Amino acid sequence: MRIEALIVGQGLAGTALAWELRRRGISFLIVDPAAPTGCSRAAAGILTPLAGQRLAPSWRLDEALPLARQTYDEVAQVTGQQHFTALPVLRWLLNPLEKERLLVRRQDPAVTPYLLEDPAGAESWMQVPPYGAVLLGGGGYLDTVAYLEASQAIFHREAAWQQGVVDPRDLHWEQSRVRWREVEARFVLFAQGWKGASNPLFDWVPFNSAKGEILDLESQSFGDRCILSAGKWVLPLGHGRFRAGSTYTHGLLDELPSEEGKTEILDHLSSMVRDKPTVVNHRAGIRPVIRGQQAVIGRHPGRPQVAFFNGLRSKGVLLAPLLAKLLVDHLWEGAPLPREVDLASNF
Ligand SMILES: Cc1cc2nc3c(=O)[nH]c(=O)nc-3n(C[C@H](O)[C@H](O)[C@H](O)COP(=O)(O)OP(=O)(O)OC[C@H]3O[C@@H](n4cnc5c(N)ncnc54)[C@H](O)[C@@H]3O)c2cc1C
Repeated sequence: MRIEALIVGQGLAGTALAWELRRRGISFLIVDPAAPTGCSRAAAGILTPLAGQRLAPSWRLDEALPLARQTYDEVAQVTGQQHFTALPVLRWLLNPLEKERLLVRRQDPAVTPYLLEDPAGAESWMQVPPYGAVLLGGGGYLDTVAYLEASQAIFHREAAWQQGVVDPRDLHWEQSRVRWREVEARFVLFAQGWKGASNPLFDWVPFNSAKGEILDLESQSFGDRCILSAGKWVLPLGHGRFRAGSTYTHGLLDELPSEEGKTEILDHLSSMVRDKPTVVNHRAGIRPVIRGQQAVIGRHPGRPQVAFFNGLRSKGVLLAPLLAKLLVDHLWEGAPLPREVDLASNF
């Protein structure tokens, strides 16, 4: 099989790459173990244009947000399923400093389009926010499991998906191409998430990945007008189902839900909502984090046929489509990569 790209890993990164290549008519094969776990499958899928304590616009928001929305719309057309739901985020202000910062942010033209007038403020099912709240527009959430599975079904149907594990030691270098089993490709693109830390080709990249846990909940009293964000968050899924999370722990790299994680989320939740929900599921995953970076893409310094796409942190839904586009522009059209995310510029 002679193709342009062998993609290793079908999380949010590998899937965005595959859709970008498909859009351009570039041949690819995506290989993934298809285990029912994995970071992208554990994710809440929330997309927020303004994030962090500073309510700052995300990196290259003006490009990333429209491209993400366009990509998920296009996937919906191909798969016949809508996976993205637009929903405002009711963001509590957690201290006096955040309240002050919001006053400054209200003067910032890059931020004002995302600040909605909110006549309702907090709702009766919530606790009272100690320093007020602001309603943020432009976001929503992606049903990541449905998106990954529907994408996989399309790629599989087009003979562009294979279940398996690519061991970098099984790659054979042939002049300007690379061979893996019966596949001969121009590029091999590693989109392995946190498991990229054990790839010997990239053992010099400083991973500092972070475990996260999430609860699936049922409640008859919680509302579903918005995502509630107050240190942790509550995401309404409809029909009395909710998701809440998440924890953020460095060091402990296992994908197992823990009692401590569950307690941490439920304890925090009691400061956000009035009633206790019922916990119906509990999941964990590991966010790929690369020290000091919001994400990293680019070519391997010694193997021009090898590329890297990793370190999406908590921003996979928003950033994966833009980073996929930038990497494909770079590899197939020779476009330079933005310095902030370029593998070659940062390590
Ligand atoms: C609890 C939690 C909540 C989160 N919430 C959000 C959120 O609300 N919004 C958001 O944007 N992000 C969120 N994230 C972060 C988001 O999940 C990540 O940014 C994103 O999923 C990373 O995608 P990825 O494709 O890089 O990695 P992964 O999803 O880990 O995918 C990598 C894939 O590569 C496969 N793989 C690895 N090695 C090989 C190999 N050798 N051969 C073949 N396949 C291989 C793996 O099996 C896996 O399927 C959350 C994460 C967690 C843990």
